[in-house]
Amino acid sequence: MSNAILKNLSVILLDRDGVINKEPGPILSPEQFLMIPRSAGAVARINARGWRCFVITNQSAIARGDLSESVFQTITDKMRLELGKSEAHIDGLYYCPHHPDWENGQRRTVSIECTCRKPGTLLLEQAAAEHGFSKEEAVLIGDSTSDFAAAARWGTCSIGVRTGHAGQDGKTSTKPDHWKADLWEAVEFLLEN
Ligand SMILES: [Mg+2]
Ligand SMILES: [Zn+2]
Repeated sequence: MSNAILKNLSVILLDRDGVINKEPGPILSPEQFLMIPRSAGAVARINARGWRCFVITNQSAIARGDLSESVFQTITDKMRLELGKSEAHIDGLYYCPHHPDWENGQRRTVSIECTCRKPGTLLLEQAAAEHGFSKEEAVLIGDSTSDFAAAARWGTCSIGVRTGHAGQDGKTSTKPDHWKADLWEAVEFLLEN
């Protein structure tokens, strides 16, 4: 990550599962949504620094029929509540409800890739267009290779965290620009540079 990029940094893009909350498996209810220690504090530091913060998350459990949009919203409400306990907030959330092989709880006969599911970049582009920032002003923090690949495709810097999948999902071979232990340390790294 070059100093020029860090100088312009104003937006933090966060994956959700495995970065903000623990991910023992798909999160299908508010009860299963449990914060990773210090992640809310890390978001509070992002807020205090004046950087904007957006969550970009793949939620294919919706396509699989395991999670309804309304339950997803109650999980989002719990996330906002948990963040609020640490005086933290996010400025927006974008999610992909699709899966190439599933639709409305049924297996598709033909696989269809959407462009919003990471490593697709559509959600990043949407956030940037709706909130007026460029890829040069942003950094993406994630735990999966699909996060790193989305960041690389879009041309923004990425930080991998060793929580969640810790980059061991094997979906793509893309590596992040930096590795940090967790969201707290990733934010500390950004604040120090
Ligand atoms: Mg994740
Ligand atoms: Zn999608």
